[in-house]
Amino acid sequence: MVKKRVDVLVLNSNETITLDSPENENGLGIVDHGGVAIKQGKIVLAASTDLLERKYRAGRTIDVENEIILPGFVDPHTHLIFAGAREAEFQPRIEGVSYMEILRKGGGIIETVNRTRQASPESLFQFGQQRLDTCLESGSTTVEIKSGYGLREDDELKILRTVQRLREYHPCNIVPTFMGAHAVPPGETSSEFVLSIVNEMLPRVAQAGLAEFCDVFCEQGVFDSVESKMILRKAAKLGLKLKIHADQFTDSGGAEIANRLRANSADHLVHSPPKQLEKMVETKVIPVVLPSSSLSLLSGENADARSMLTLGLPVALGTDFSPSNWMLGQLTVAALASRELRMKASEIIRGITINAARALGLEKRVGSFHVGKDADLVTLRVPNHKWIGYTYGERVVDNVLIAGKRVVRDGKRIP
Ligand SMILES: [Zn+2]
Repeated sequence: MVKKRVDVLVLNSNETITLDSPENENGLGIVDHGGVAIKQGKIVLAASTDLLERKYRAGRTIDVENEIILPGFVDPHTHLIFAGAREAEFQPRIEGVSYMEILRKGGGIIETVNRTRQASPESLFQFGQQRLDTCLESGSTTVEIKSGYGLREDDELKILRTVQRLREYHPCNIVPTFMGAHAVPPGETSSEFVLSIVNEMLPRVAQAGLAEFCDVFCEQGVFDSVESKMILRKAAKLGLKLKIHADQFTDSGGAEIANRLRANSADHLVHSPPKQLEKMVETKVIPVVLPSSSLSLLSGENADARSMLTLGLPVALGTDFSPSNWMLGQLTVAALASRELRMKASEIIRGITINAARALGLEKRVGSFHVGKDADLVTLRVPNHKWIGYTYGERVVDNVLIAGKRVVRDGKRIP
């Protein structure tokens, strides 16, 4: 048989997790001793090493003996662009002062807003690059980034332009979200601020093509359900897709809004009523669960991921990286999902790959090794997939490829 030429062959894994199992939607599609053939940045075939070696010859071969291969992780929820950190505020939080109490006293998000408004675009770009490099080294190849630390037009646009520049210069796939409705700026009422979002910021953002999604922090004392709906309806009219921070601290109607407006995803869902979760089966809203965020709040309250899985919902997992939850690794989220949410390895793997891709509307491009998808993959130094959620993830990532190009080797970003 004449061997066909491909660009890259990744071979000799213990397991190749394809997430492409037509006969069983919830199956992982595991190929033992498998690998992946890549041409022009796309998946040609994921199959056994034997078959790949018989069918293809490649310009480059990557041997991943004693490792497993997975689609690159997708992080569907981050607040990645901001200046400063809030380690000082974390100390009183450890002593029991609540997050919302700190926010009411002008700390929390507002402190980060002040720092971010003062920051130059160049410094924000540098922070972004460093943090995205950490994402890559942690196995994430697609990352959603929200604005929301500007809270006025010029500063929100400064953040979204930084995200735009990162999309051009950083290999990570980046999905930009406008989240002007992240907090009410000091000195304004929420109704004034909502009007400025609806009448000024959203049209500017949409016209400049700086965001694919619009997100709102729907919560008691932040934006109520009427305000949240007003913002999201306007965003939909302008062609943006919808996300919502739903029911994180209280049942604030967030999940209901997501269902009613057919949002792509509803995120957090810690206090959502079971009826609204059931409804997601029919509305196809993707539940995004953020266990590290719950842990950082020190509240001990988590979303009921088990009930969502019992309903058959495609539960996605994200980091919710922000100054109040400083973590970027989806393998660490996996470790928390098993312990705090009782999710099994197979459920977690879908949560950080194909289901997270669904939360971003990218399921046709990334999240599995379906033929023709982008060749984004990660190889892990573990014997089998049950280590996902079992290990906390330190020094587990070996290689990361994006569109067939190696961007991480031996766990380190290749400059
Ligand atoms: Zn968030």
